[in-house]
Amino acid sequence: MNKLLIVFLLAATISYSQDTSNSWLVKRYSEKVLKYLDKEKSLSSFYNINGKGISIYSSGQNKSLNKTEFFIPWEQLNDFRLYSKFNSQLFDYYLNGKIENFPDTNFKKADTIVSEKPLYGYRIAIDPGHIAHDLQTGFLEMKHLKFKRDPIHGAVDSVEIAEGMLTYATAKLLKEKLELAGAEVILTRPNGTSSFGKTFQQWKKEDLKKTTDSLLKIGELQLSQKNYFLSSKAKDRDIFRALFRDLDLAKRAEIINNYHPDLTVIIHFNVDETNLNWTKPTKKDFNMAFVGGAFMRNDLSSPQKRFEFLRLLITDDLEKSISLSGFAVESFHKTLDVSTAGVLDAKYLTEGCLKTEKTGVYCRNLQLTRYIHSPLVYGETLYQDNIKESQLLNKETDKTKNERIIQVADAYFNGILNYIKSTN
Ligand SMILES: [Zn+2]
Repeated sequence: MNKLLIVFLLAATISYSQDTSNSWLVKRYSEKVLKYLDKEKSLSSFYNINGKGISIYSSGQNKSLNKTEFFIPWEQLNDFRLYSKFNSQLFDYYLNGKIENFPDTNFKKADTIVSEKPLYGYRIAIDPGHIAHDLQTGFLEMKHLKFKRDPIHGAVDSVEIAEGMLTYATAKLLKEKLELAGAEVILTRPNGTSSFGKTFQQWKKEDLKKTTDSLLKIGELQLSQKNYFLSSKAKDRDIFRALFRDLDLAKRAEIINNYHPDLTVIIHFNVDETNLNWTKPTKKDFNMAFVGGAFMRNDLSSPQKRFEFLRLLITDDLEKSISLSGFAVESFHKTLDVSTAGVLDAKYLTEGCLKTEKTGVYCRNLQLTRYIHSPLVYGETLYQDNIKESQLLNKETDKTKNERIIQVADAYFNGILNYIKSTN
């Protein structure tokens, strides 16, 4: 046989065997996209998974021109996973289109010291949702309930609750328990301020002007919008919702990612979304938890979002989040004696989420489930506006002394412990 032909046949065999040996990877990752990431089955123009690796495109047009934004061959999959855990620079590499070589990083070696404490060596980040430390701030951020006394319908006392006060108290109690069990723990915000370490009013006074300047510069804000936000016509609630809230969330993700936690707990208390304006109680009461995924058709509009989509696809953060959240939801049910939400129990679960194999755990593309680079549980325990819960949560000015809050912190703690046990 002619030498050239032999070389050709050999090369063909090698590339053929590479393609078939990768076919299980193609199948696995194609299935993962459909199961957890692509809510409306509308994102196929942004990616391609084949025998060589995974390509990401910035648009359908670029896909048809085969102009990739980023390409990762299967051989680099493990390096990507490892690197994503320790280096926040990965996005810069993404912007280069491919990774030539993964730079050397001093990956932390696992601690070999044996400890009796079950969480020894674990780093845990806790995000207490919202910022309110008083009812007034709860009103400002529109996470506030106020019910009149209505003894005939079971409301023995009038109720006034700000969700941010409940989440902070839960986070503080949970932090204490986790630390006693040996973990290192951070909270993303101090009591009384946002993750910037400032109240909204401080931020408005010191940072609003420069923030609107930089948003204008990068095209996120029009000049007329900037002028409106700086004028006396702009209401605090509008500035909060339109600007401050997302910036505060971005800062929380940054704090968490710089900490490189083994897991992250995001604490929220839910409400019945059909209870208009929350001026009177509801009978509904459920627990649920969110993890990343369920991108909708307009959710891949920036390189950063497409990078997070790829990261969730390649790493096992999502699978670990589902497992952690599964244990948390199970523990919520057991400790709080509140039902776990099924997909038909709230409209957003059908319209904005994908269900996972764990009951009560839903993929949802929220700012924090998207940008946090660790296994996470985004917990939504009980409905604050439930008739019984609102009475219970209303008790105690210092919410760390509230019995229902103590139960919620216990529920998170037991869920985390069961998850850690399952991984050992
Ligand atoms: Zn909330």
